Amino acid sequence: MKRIFVLETLNRIGEEVLLKGWVHVRRNMGKMIFIELRDRTGIIQVVFHPGNPEALAAAADLRSEYVVAIRGKVNARPEKQVQANQPLGTVEFEALELTVLNAAKTPPFELNADTSAVDEELRLKYRYLDLRSERMRKNTELRFKVTKFFRDFLEQKGFFEIETPILTKGTPEGSREYLVPSRLHAGKFYVLPQSPQQFKQLLMVAGMERYFQVARCFRDEDQRGDRQPEFTQLDMEMSFVDEEDVISLVEEMLIKLVETVSPEKKILQKPFPRLSYAEAMEKYGNDKPDVRVNKDDPNELAFCWIVDFPLFEKSESEGRLVSAHHPFTAPRDDQKELLATAPEKVIAKAYDIVLNGYEIGGGSIRIHDRETQNKIFQILGLADDEIVERFGHMLEAFEYGAPPHGGIAPGIDRVAMILAGEPNIREVITFPKTGDARDPMMGAPSPLPEVQLQEAHILALAPKEKKG
Ligand code: ASP
Repeated sequence: MKRIFVLETLNRIGEEVLLKGWVHVRRNMGKMIFIELRDRTGIIQVVFHPGNPEALAAAADLRSEYVVAIRGKVNARPEKQVQANQPLGTVEFEALELTVLNAAKTPPFELNADTSAVDEELRLKYRYLDLRSERMRKNTELRFKVTKFFRDFLEQKGFFEIETPILTKGTPEGSREYLVPSRLHAGKFYVLPQSPQQFKQLLMVAGMERYFQVARCFRDEDQRGDRQPEFTQLDMEMSFVDEEDVISLVEEMLIKLVETVSPEKKILQKPFPRLSYAEAMEKYGNDKPDVRVNKDDPNELAFCWIVDFPLFEKSESEGRLVSAHHPFTAPRDDQKELLATAPEKVIAKAYDIVLNGYEIGGGSIRIHDRETQNKIFQILGLADDEIVERFGHMLEAFEYGAPPHGGIAPGIDRVAMILAGEPNIREVITFPKTGDARDPMMGAPSPLPEVQLQEAHILALAPKEKKG
């Protein structure tokens, strides 16, 4: 007999079917045994009664989280026993034959309740169990719906989804990079991309015109609140666009996303309000203001755009100018002269999208001519040979008919977190790292055997003694 999902029993009343899944809860009721059987689609009550003595006897050994196959009959519950608040509260499954497919040890924490109060280190060590809990299953599904929506929407708008390399060369986005030693080229390294920024711009030079990618980005940052060493962006780029084109497309996409995936949520203001960076700083003291009216309403979504960012910031540690976004961001057309005289005052064609006080994405119109790009690198303090060594390929590409282009990269983890009503992104990432970048389940990072290091031409130094 072919196995069906628990949820499908709703259309199979009176029929004999085969269910497979996990024992969610077991209750011994004297002559009868009840279990709740769980699969990915839901939970159904199963009754083992004395009319089927073999199945009843076998059920006596069941424990929580055992994996079972049960052949049985789907019955409608008598009206008095209907549990209207349960998705499968109108049916009950009468067991005829039970097969245990696998036993299970008692889990280290309860899976039939919300696990958010359980010690997070323990949850992450046993993440495959944590993910069995209903909230985590729902979050996983919601995240899938979010990325699926983005893919469908962008396909309709004429975008191609294109993969770009993970083993690459540095792209400066203000963070430290993860390094990958090259075995074939002793002493040389790849780095993992902080974002596909340069590749997506080169795809515009390549004439792809509309690109997106559900892109994994890697940033080796010190522990900073709710950050992850790897995270996912909806990376986008378009040719022949200005700020308005990018902003209006993304706004339409986000409104439809909410309507499709989280229809219970209400967007406070449409079109989304826009504030200049200067206004935001003056009024809210930061550039990701929470403009909600009622912060206690879990369904209120307040989007806003922050525009007119400065092109540069002063690095406090180094006392020199650094890019406020990244060095490929174009200055506003009316600012070209200032670039030569007072670069710190130049306004960029950059925009951030903010939701409920979180920056959920940033982007810009890019520079597409060699001269301006070179000038920016000079202002950033790069020597001419350094510019050629690190970015020669970009400058060269700009000489082969680079179209005007721009884009943005909304953060998928952050968007999913807010729509799921979760307090941090780890709740919407199936296998996240801890705050200090460890994976307690896999045991990563880990030491490697000497031979493997030698092959990769690495001499591992003993870790520095921690002070104090
Ligand atoms: N690459 C940028 C980032 O990761 C986004 C963009 O400018 O499109 O923030």
